[in-house]
Amino acid sequence: MRLRVQLAAVGMAWALTCGATMAQAPAFAWPGGQRAAVSLSYDDAVPSQLDNAIPALDRHGLKGTFYLILGAQTVRERLEDWRAAARNGHELGNHSLFHQCSAQGPGREWVQPEQDLDATSVAQMRAQVELANTMLHAIDGSTEFTYTAPCGDQRASDGNYIEAIAPLFLGIKLVGGAAIPDMLALDRAAVPVTVPVDMSGAELIALVEEAGRLGTMINFTFHGIGGDHLSIGNQAHEQLLAFLAAHRDRYWTATFREQMRWVRARQAQAANGVAEISPAPAR
Ligand SMILES: [Zn+2]
Repeated sequence: MRLRVQLAAVGMAWALTCGATMAQAPAFAWPGGQRAAVSLSYDDAVPSQLDNAIPALDRHGLKGTFYLILGAQTVRERLEDWRAAARNGHELGNHSLFHQCSAQGPGREWVQPEQDLDATSVAQMRAQVELANTMLHAIDGSTEFTYTAPCGDQRASDGNYIEAIAPLFLGIKLVGGAAIPDMLALDRAAVPVTVPVDMSGAELIALVEEAGRLGTMINFTFHGIGGDHLSIGNQAHEQLLAFLAAHRDRYWTATFREQMRWVRARQAQAANGVAEISPAPAR
C-alpha cells in the first residue's frame, strides 16, 4: 500500500515536472520578449496612404509595408514620395505589376481583360512578378522581397502561380484569417491576413490583443486610410497606432520583411533542434 502511494507520488511529481516544462517552453520567441508581432500593410498604392497613413506612422515612429501595384498612378507620379518612405524605414512590397485577379464571381466587374488572372499563365505571372521585384530594387535598393497576392487569388490560367513565385519571396500574404495560430507551423508562402474595412479603433485593437493572447502575429491589410477604396477612417487608424506605440514592449510592429526574416530564422532553429534530438539513422 505504502509502495503504491509512493509510486503514485513519483508519478504525480513526474507529471508535474513535465507539465511545468511544457508550460515554460516558449512556443515562439519574438525579439525583446515581445508578446506578438503586428504587421501593418497597405495595398494598392492609393494616394491616401501617402497623404494620411505614412504621416501617421511617422508621427508614432512605427513602420509599415506598402504593397505597390507597380503600374499604379502614384508610382508614376509620386515615385519620390514612395522612395522617401522607403528611406524612412517603411517597406515597399510587391503587389504585382497590374493587379491581376480572377474576373469571375460577384464583385469582380472591375477586373479588365488585360488584368484577368484567368487569362494569364503561370509563366507570365512569374515573369511579371520578377520584373516588379526588379523595379522595387531600382526604387529603393532592396534585395529581399515580400508579396501580397492581388485579391488573394492564386489560380492563373494553367495552374497555381503562387507556388511558382514562392522561391522569390521571404513571405507571401494571402487573404483569409485573423491572428496566426502557430508561428513555427506557419507557411511563410501562405500567411493569412485580415482586411479591415470600416472597422473602429477598438475592433482593430481587439485583434491585436488576440494575437497577444496567442503569442503569435496579426497581419492587417489595409487599403484606403481616410479615403480611397476599402477604407478605414483616419480616427480608427490613429487609435490603433497610438495603442501600438504605447505598448511597444508587448507588440512588435515592424515591416513584414523584418518579421519574416525573424520567423525564417526561428523556424530554421526549431528544425535544427528537432534534428539534433532525433535518433541516429539505422545503419
Ligand atoms: Zn490589391
